[in-house]
Amino acid sequence: MIHFPRTLSELGALEGEFRAASTDLSERRRHGISGGSLIDLRDLPGLDQLLLEGPRLNIGAKVTVQAVADSPLVRLHHPALAASAGALATPAIRAVATVGGNLTQRVRCWYYRSPELTCLKKGGSTCLARAGDHLYHACFDRGACVAPHASTLAMALLLGDALVITTRRSLTMAEFLGDGSDARRENRLEAGELVTGLSLPVVQAGLRAGYHRAISRARAEWPLVEAAAQLRVEGGVLRQVQLALGGVATVPFRLPAVEAKLEGLPPDLDPIRAVLSGASTGASPLPMTAYKLDLLAPTLFYAVRVAVEAQ
Ligand SMILES: Cc1cc2nc3c(=O)[nH]c(=O)nc-3n(C[C@H](O)[C@H](O)[C@H](O)COP(=O)(O)OP(=O)(O)OC[C@H]3O[C@@H](n4cnc5c(N)ncnc54)[C@H](O)[C@@H]3O)c2cc1C
Repeated sequence: MIHFPRTLSELGALEGEFRAASTDLSERRRHGISGGSLIDLRDLPGLDQLLLEGPRLNIGAKVTVQAVADSPLVRLHHPALAASAGALATPAIRAVATVGGNLTQRVRCWYYRSPELTCLKKGGSTCLARAGDHLYHACFDRGACVAPHASTLAMALLLGDALVITTRRSLTMAEFLGDGSDARRENRLEAGELVTGLSLPVVQAGLRAGYHRAISRARAEWPLVEAAAQLRVEGGVLRQVQLALGGVATVPFRLPAVEAKLEGLPPDLDPIRAVLSGASTGASPLPMTAYKLDLLAPTLFYAVRVAVEAQ
């Protein structure tokens, strides 16, 4: 059965899986990984707005990824989000995929996506990828499941002070994601809790950003490693440096120790490269994912370089 609620209170009384643009959901349903009733978000009003409201930029959960990428407001107040949104998936996916769906899409692990297999996420007792083929999986081993988080926007939103707004509360991005140790889920949403949007602080002009991904084919693929950087160049040095990595752990994460070492450096590429060479500290690769460590520093460097050179 498919429900089409017209208000949030109607939605609150329903049970089922939310459906936005269905670019992730329809594949899971086709393979029997997801089933049961659907709650289609199509008729819910007000969630497709991207608005400057006082000191906050509010982005509704149904705003498309491409609209985020194209928005001059997002480019000004959260350039890393705009850059990341413009680089993920394909133009066709970005045109329809929503912010809410992107943040809450499920992992791309082939064991999870196989209708024949019961991995930890589907109630099984073991992570099949850990003992099996985990070529595209974590190199920071932080939980029983080793599938990397799939959301590029979630990684970018770790920069800045973005809030995820739901029908029940406001969460920082770190609160929304959790620490990645719960193998069954990729975020801390409760059953029936809808993401209604994002709220971003308005910032002064001059924030610069870069996004880069290492990828196994030219396009239309999730990244092996992805990185976002956001910073300012003020008084001839780097300020407010923020870095995030995705594709390498069950949740994307910030790099506070590396950020601190970049803070105050002149925007010269050689010292930046030297600092970033330590980015894989703390990694715990699986037998097949050690290659990702070689991708980390160059991917981060590229993102930082784009940010430093941005005008
Ligand atoms: C070839 C290809 C490459 C891709 N590469 C990338 C990539 O590099 N990075 C990346 O991030 N993504 C990538 N994607 C995934 C794509 O971005 C997601 O499928 C899309 O963002 C999901 O959005 P949607 O609106 O279609 O969500 P849906 O498919 O409708 O929903 C996805 C999930 O989110 C839940 N959901 C939807 N909206 C809400 C809400 N408001 N609140 C709570 N739960 C909700 C649904 O119940 C469902 O479980 C790629 C996809 C393809 C096909």
